[in-house]
Amino acid sequence: MTNRYQVVIVGAGPSAIFAALTLMKGNVESVAIFERGKDIHERKRGRGMELLCGWGGAGAFSDGKLTLSPKVGGFLSEFVSPTQLMELLKKTDDIYLSFGAPKEVFGQSSEKTEALYQEAKLANLEFVPMEIRHLGTENCVPLLMRIREALEGKVHIFFESPVEEILVKNRKVCGLQLYDGNQVEADFVICGPGRVGAEWVRNRVQRLGIASVPSPVDIGVRVEAPASVLQKLTDVAYEAKFIYYSKTFDDKVRTFCMNPFGEVVTETIDDIVTVNGHSYSTKRTENTHFSILVSSTFTEPFRDPIGYGKYIARLANLLGQGVIIQRLGDLIDGRRSTTDRINRCITQPTLPSATPGDLSFVLPYRHLKSIIEMLEALDRITPGIYSRHTLLYGVEVKFYTNRIKLPPVLETDIQNLFFIGDGAGITRGLMQASMSGMIAANEILKRMG
Ligand SMILES: Cc1cc2nc3c(=O)[nH]c(=O)nc-3n(C[C@H](O)[C@H](O)[C@H](O)COP(=O)(O)OP(=O)(O)OC[C@H]3O[C@@H](n4cnc5c(N)ncnc54)[C@H](O)[C@@H]3O)c2cc1C
Repeated sequence: MTNRYQVVIVGAGPSAIFAALTLMKGNVESVAIFERGKDIHERKRGRGMELLCGWGGAGAFSDGKLTLSPKVGGFLSEFVSPTQLMELLKKTDDIYLSFGAPKEVFGQSSEKTEALYQEAKLANLEFVPMEIRHLGTENCVPLLMRIREALEGKVHIFFESPVEEILVKNRKVCGLQLYDGNQVEADFVICGPGRVGAEWVRNRVQRLGIASVPSPVDIGVRVEAPASVLQKLTDVAYEAKFIYYSKTFDDKVRTFCMNPFGEVVTETIDDIVTVNGHSYSTKRTENTHFSILVSSTFTEPFRDPIGYGKYIARLANLLGQGVIIQRLGDLIDGRRSTTDRINRCITQPTLPSATPGDLSFVLPYRHLKSIIEMLEALDRITPGIYSRHTLLYGVEVKFYTNRIKLPPVLETDIQNLFFIGDGAGITRGLMQASMSGMIAANEILKRMG
């Protein structure tokens, strides 16, 4: 390893990969990526942090839904003009297509999406229509391997090389320090550490005095039902996204990451096990699942949404030795689910390792009430979802790092230090994370002339 590069990138998730692809097109001579996880062919989804860490980041075993609607999957519309955003989206989509993403687009506007929009209103739900290209989990790894091959020999990629510190002199970035103590000099540093790096970002941002605002923490459950119950929605929208303001608390509650015929999986961040999900493009289970998340933003004096989310997740892990599963009927009736009750359930879990238990011991009343109210509202447009046989897995938590205050080019107030992707709190999905990498890299290319 030399210890000097023009550009160094922290992480190898979609944001970082697209930054590297863009820099390569501009013929930057020396670019290095430092990733704490393993190379793509060495990653195994079921092994601890490997779901989130390594080449491809959280995207490697994701559902691979590429959201083609600019308003979903992040906040880039607050940084660039609508025209620039559409151009970026098109460029990013073209790159995914060139590496093998399928041509088919789901959820295109039609009479059916309009009818669903109107019907949702009657149930106090806002339906957010969006177009999606669906890779499917089994196609994410091969696509990421193709990108990896395209960058081979052009970008220096170091795996199992976690970055400890960002080195700064006179408010200008000058390199990185790795956990093993090695230092790397660089003219530009791009940080794309993802949600898994939320705590790392929080601590670095605090130490370097970079301005940031607290992000919400989203806490909820993964809901699983027979695919037929949700087919009315998934046939029209593939990923049906709804927003609801709860009756009792007026909290923002939303559906997220709907996976038709998919499977529920666990997600490990450090010592915490939470729940997530994905689906294949060919292999089908009998169920469809999605999450219901309640957003909370803390202001004063408490400013640690990550700590709050981890506390709730730890409680579920303490009681359930991992993820807890409960039938909706048991939750409503105030009793725990048991193995016997789950065995008798019409919906058979796609995550059989979850422990039957009682989510009311874990989730605050505010969250539980809001989730139940949203399920009741959803039942008006997709009858059968508020059934005692609906399964709830808990908890699902989305820790977002504090949102870093960034200008449109995504450079912090430390010269030549850029933050991109989910780790900067500005994106929440594959497309916008990838687009953010392109924005930072384009700015660096411009400055290099
Ligand atoms: C199961 C699952 C399903 C999903 N499905 C979808 C979907 O269908 N559609 C969608 O749009 N989004 C989906 N997502 C979300 C999507 O994967 C993320 O939004 C996207 O990967 C974010 O990209 P990123 O580059 O910002 O961060 P990440 O992909 O999280 O990558 C960050 C990388 O940085 C590395 N890193 C962190 N800290 C350090 C450090 N200190 N030193 C070195 N390396 C570090 C990590 O190991 C990781 O590899 C899913 C996520 C999961 C987990």
